[in-house]
Amino acid sequence: MVEINQSSSLGRIRVWKVDGFEGVFAPLFLKNDPSLKSYLEEGGYRALEKVLSMGPDEVIEEVKRSGLRGRGGAGFPTGVKWSFMPKDAERKFLVCNADEGEPATFKDRYIITFVPHLLVEGMMISAYAIGTREILVYIRGEYWEEAFILKKAVQEGVEYVKSRFGVSFDIKVMQGAGAYIVGEETGLLNSLEGKRGQPRPRPPYPAQKGYMGYPTCVNNVETLACVPFIINKGADWFKSIGREKSTGPKLFCVSGKVKKPGLYELPMGFPLKKLIELAGGTSCGGKIKAVIPGGTSAPPLTPDELEEATLDFESIASFGSFLGTASCVVICEHDCIVRVGWNMAHFYAEESCGQCTTCREGTRFIEYLFEKIENGRGTEKDVMTLLDVSSSIPGSAICAHVDAGSLPAKKIVSSFKEEVMSHLGKVCNAKNCEFSFHT
Ligand code: SF4
Repeated sequence: MVEINQSSSLGRIRVWKVDGFEGVFAPLFLKNDPSLKSYLEEGGYRALEKVLSMGPDEVIEEVKRSGLRGRGGAGFPTGVKWSFMPKDAERKFLVCNADEGEPATFKDRYIITFVPHLLVEGMMISAYAIGTREILVYIRGEYWEEAFILKKAVQEGVEYVKSRFGVSFDIKVMQGAGAYIVGEETGLLNSLEGKRGQPRPRPPYPAQKGYMGYPTCVNNVETLACVPFIINKGADWFKSIGREKSTGPKLFCVSGKVKKPGLYELPMGFPLKKLIELAGGTSCGGKIKAVIPGGTSAPPLTPDELEEATLDFESIASFGSFLGTASCVVICEHDCIVRVGWNMAHFYAEESCGQCTTCREGTRFIEYLFEKIENGRGTEKDVMTLLDVSSSIPGSAICAHVDAGSLPAKKIVSSFKEEVMSHLGKVCNAKNCEFSFHT
C-alpha cells in the first residue's frame, strides 16, 4: 500500500494504491493542470469520439451494465435514470448538479478545479445518450473560482468538439445563491427557472416535466465524470471494481478529528475503519466516538458498527445510515455527541425551505431540544420527546430534507443514550464542546 501525497490549491491530495487499485481521478488531479491541452494529452474527448459512432441506446446500455449509481447522495442507477427520458419530446435538458452543499463534502470541487474537461466530456456523452444537446450546470454560489474554471473549460470544450467532430453542444453554467436545499433536484430546477429554490412535489418527476416543463435528467458532477472512464475502459472494467451492487472507483472526503483530512480515491466497498487508518487515525489523542459516513444528513455510526462497515450503499444502509455523498466525519471521544447533534440540527432547521409543517417545525423543535439538553436545562421527558419527534417525522414531507434533519438525531439519542442522559441537569463537561463541520 503506497501513499502519493501532493499539495494543491485545495489542500493535500492523497491517493492510495491499494490492492492493485491506482485510481482514475487521482492521477488526473495530481497533474494539477485544468487546461484542454493537458486533458487531450491524457486521451481526453476520445470517449466522446467513440460514443458518436454508437447509438444513444447502446451508450445507455453500457452505462446500465457498468452498474454506475448516482454519486450525489441517492445512489440511483444512472443508466436506468437516463432510460426514463422520453425519446419523442420536442425539447429535453441535461442538468448537472454542481451545488455540493452537503456539509463535509468537497469531492466535486476537486473534479471541477483539476479536471473540468472530464466533466464537460461526461456531460456531452450523457446528453448524447438521452438525446439532447442542451445542458445546464447549476454550480454552488460559493464556488465562484470553480465557476470561472468551469466556464472556461466549457467554452474550450464546446469549440474543440465542434471543430474536431462537427457536433455542437449548448452548455450554460449558472451560479446559485447559497441555499442548501437547491441541491435537491427539483429545488434546483425551480432555482434555474428563476423561482424560489423550493422542492416540488412528485409526480411529475423531472424526466416527465423538468426544466421549463420539458423532460430533464439531473446528474451529479462525480456521476457524470465517471462516464468517460466507463466508455473508454468498458462496463466490465467498471464492474470489476467495488461490490456487486456498488461498483466502480469512488471519491471519499475525510474530515473531522483525523490526522490527514482530505480527498481519498478508493474502490467502492473499502472498509470504513481502514479509510480512517489511512487518514492517520484520530488527531485528538483519544478513541473514535462516532463516524458520520456520508455527509451530515447520514446518521452517525458507533465504534462497533465501524468495525463491520464497508463503504458501499448496502453496508452503510444495513446500519440505518446512508453512504450519501461518501463524506466521512470522525468524531472523537472528547467531542460532545449532544453538541454534534445540536450543530447538525441547527443546520437543517436553518436550511428548511419552510413549505412542509413537519420539516419547518420539526427540525426547529429538534434543534431546540438539543440546545436545551446541551445547556443543562433538559429533562428525561425532553430526551423521550426528541426520540419521539425524530422517529415520527421522517418521510412526512415533500423532500428528504426532513429525514436529514431528524434521522441523525434519532440515531444519536438511541445509540448514545447514556451520554445524552448524562447532560440532564448539568452543563456539558466534555473536553471539546465546540464541534463544527468542515464545509
Ligand atoms: Fe422544504 Fe423541508 Fe418540505 Fe423539503 S421537506 S420541501 S426542505 S419544507
